[in-house]
Amino acid sequence: MKPTEYDLVIIGGGPAGLTASIYAARARLNILVLEKSAPGGQILVTDWIENYPGFPEGLSGADLVMKMTDQAKRFGVEIETNRVQSMDVADTVKKLVLSDRTVTCKAVIIATGASPRKLGVSGEEEFYGKGISTCATCDAPFFRNSVVAAIGGGDTAVQESIFLTRFVDKVYLIHRRDQLRATRILQERALENDKIEIVWDSVLTSVNGSDAGVESVSVKNVKTGEASELAVEGCFVWVGITPNTSFLNDTVQVDKGGFVVVNSKMETSVPGVYAAGDVRNTPLRQVATAVGDSAIAAFEAANYIETIEGH
Ligand code: NAP
Repeated sequence: MKPTEYDLVIIGGGPAGLTASIYAARARLNILVLEKSAPGGQILVTDWIENYPGFPEGLSGADLVMKMTDQAKRFGVEIETNRVQSMDVADTVKKLVLSDRTVTCKAVIIATGASPRKLGVSGEEEFYGKGISTCATCDAPFFRNSVVAAIGGGDTAVQESIFLTRFVDKVYLIHRRDQLRATRILQERALENDKIEIVWDSVLTSVNGSDAGVESVSVKNVKTGEASELAVEGCFVWVGITPNTSFLNDTVQVDKGGFVVVNSKMETSVPGVYAAGDVRNTPLRQVATAVGDSAIAAFEAANYIETIEGH
């Protein structure tokens, strides 16, 4: 039978959760690390990471996850595939309802990350997974030598559009403003790339197609009001992220975007509950910041546990 009592439960097995687990294991805490699917979170589908220090040539998201997981395992960390359904964390003994049992613990680190946001336009649900994707690393090979649309102007949209050009003939990068949000170096690369045509000041109004898949996207210029249709075989939606917090049910304070509010010690509004990485309110969502957050969260959680144990 699986144990039900822990010092610390870390929810999430991405860079934030894995880092917290390394620090907590080295602090000799009895920990449970939960991940709903495969460890790694969003970076698993990130083709190339070149801004995480220590890897001068860059490395794939999958490789970085593997290295972090191996490092955690070296300190005895085991990652359980399970979901938190709900939690009751108001008291010193925290209760978490999982898919198969209820566990108790002294502290919790929420490191559940975020997921791609949807646009809510006509055809999006119908063609999701059938021509609409949020993962270039997973799906780009299906669109070899075709024309695709990419929506968004942030780091994800721009970086992933550049990746797409290794496979496709052309990417229409559709952005609602006349300036990209992405980091300058990514902007420069996109603007220099012959296979990327930026459709400025424009929003997607629908994704159109048939049983055979996506055939076009309808676009509206927000400045002129002009509507047009672009013939594409695929559509990648990268319009930001939404935090994975459905299990929180008002237990901790969140901001208006739903991200968990923490202070500089990664403490949430509830004593003994911490949040780290993309799920928290932060000005920068990177592997480097997730790692920093989690080191602090695990350190503070260990201190908190010592305090309540009266050491
Ligand atoms: P993001 O930075 O929030 O950018 C979202 C983009 O989508 C923005 O350009 C936004 O337009 C646009 N958008 C939002 N809602 C829209 C709508 N309804 N219709 C049309 N366009 C819409 O999200 P992200 O690019 O997914 O990045 C998330 C976080 O991960 C960021 O912190 C980012 O820096 C980080 N990240 C970093 C890297 C890297 O360092 N290489 C790679 C990937 C992600 P506006 O610009 O007009 O708001």
